Amino acid sequence: MQKKLDLVIVGSGPGGIAAALLAQKHKKNYIVLEKGSHVMQGILETYPRGKKVYPTIPKSCKDPFPVEEIKPQDTRAPVEEYIEQANRVVDKNNLSLNLNETFQAISGRFPDYLVKTNKGTYSTENIILAFGSNIPNDLGIYGEAKTVARNIENPEDYIGVNVLVIGGGNAAADVVSSLSKSKREASDATSVYWAHIKEKFEINTDTARDLGEEVLLGGQIKILQRAVPKIGEVDAEGIDRLYIHQTSGAPMGDDLYMYQGMSFPMKNVIACIGTHGPSAIFDELNLQQITCTGAICKIAKEGERLLMLSRQLETSSPGIFAIGGAISPSFMMIQEDGVIRETKHSNLIYTAVVDAVRVMEKLIQT
Ligand SMILES: Cc1cc2nc3c(=O)[nH]c(=O)nc-3n(C[C@H](O)[C@H](O)[C@H](O)COP(=O)(O)OP(=O)(O)OC[C@H]3O[C@@H](n4cnc5c(N)ncnc54)[C@H](O)[C@@H]3O)c2cc1C
Repeated sequence: MQKKLDLVIVGSGPGGIAAALLAQKHKKNYIVLEKGSHVMQGILETYPRGKKVYPTIPKSCKDPFPVEEIKPQDTRAPVEEYIEQANRVVDKNNLSLNLNETFQAISGRFPDYLVKTNKGTYSTENIILAFGSNIPNDLGIYGEAKTVARNIENPEDYIGVNVLVIGGGNAAADVVSSLSKSKREASDATSVYWAHIKEKFEINTDTARDLGEEVLLGGQIKILQRAVPKIGEVDAEGIDRLYIHQTSGAPMGDDLYMYQGMSFPMKNVIACIGTHGPSAIFDELNLQQITCTGAICKIAKEGERLLMLSRQLETSSPGIFAIGGAISPSFMMIQEDGVIRETKHSNLIYTAVVDAVRVMEKLIQT
């Protein structure tokens, strides 16, 4: 085992890299552990190829991007350039980062933690969990549709087929835009159907602008509001299909309703229905979580468990912090008056970087 570190940072996404930059600047002895073979592996795996990365700042936040080096370009450059930018930041600043090293467990107590990975053990005083949130939500349909994709690697793979994208947020909108653009550029007449369970889609201004541009340029985007994926079925040719229908059926009398539905081969369905926090991992690490019961949560669903954090994002174990996607879309914050309240936490690059600054401010003082 090496000599004791000040800090182990788990994950090299925007949150982890921002924390490392600040640790380096303040001469802390630290290491970043990344399970993938690339910096920002999480982003690399989840963004469609060529997707523009927006430097979105949530409406409720007034401050500019706090770490300029890791801010996505105002020109909204494609994801490949953002990853390049991150690689340059790591090289130029000579950040201490191990790729292909997976965090597994923590033992010991503050200030003497041991962090176990697939390659060894680190002795450290503090730990920042910046491992993001990539556990996809279930579609919740009968015969859970395991073959449905959760993101697209290459939009060109869907040229020549009608595609169904399920989800009402930014990730779904990005996928719809990318698919439509590649179909339009290939003069492909098939459509991108975009289904959301609710009436209203929840996307930010930057994403909406790209989507609007795509529609005006002639993209074949068809919107299905109030559409619920219902059931997986196998057709006469043995193809797995997903059936989706609109929630309000027309009453026909005698307790009968007529529904409009569509059926897509599951291989042409992409479900961008969000991710949930790594609650099971927090449990394994014995970090205190609070269950949402009796409508105490507005963002999380009844029964969901949210990580409890101080204002500096410190968990119930002193010296262990959690930031970024790992604590989105909400967590339980201990307020100054001691009251614990569900706190909204947008899953954005900006938020992950602001979190890193908040934690590092505390660690720099010590
Ligand atoms: C399709 C899509 C489009 C988006 N577009 C935008 C956008 O345009 N603008 C924007 O601001 N936000 C966007 N977001 C959200 C943004 O990407 C996230 O908020 C941000 O990446 C969170 O950063 P993070 O550092 O917390 O986690 P991540 O970026 O998820 O990084 C976590 C890292 O930890 C690593 N890791 C995980 N487990 C372990 C382990 N056990 N050991 C070691 N390493 C581990 C992962 O490999 C990963 O590299 C988008 C998200 C999606 C899914």
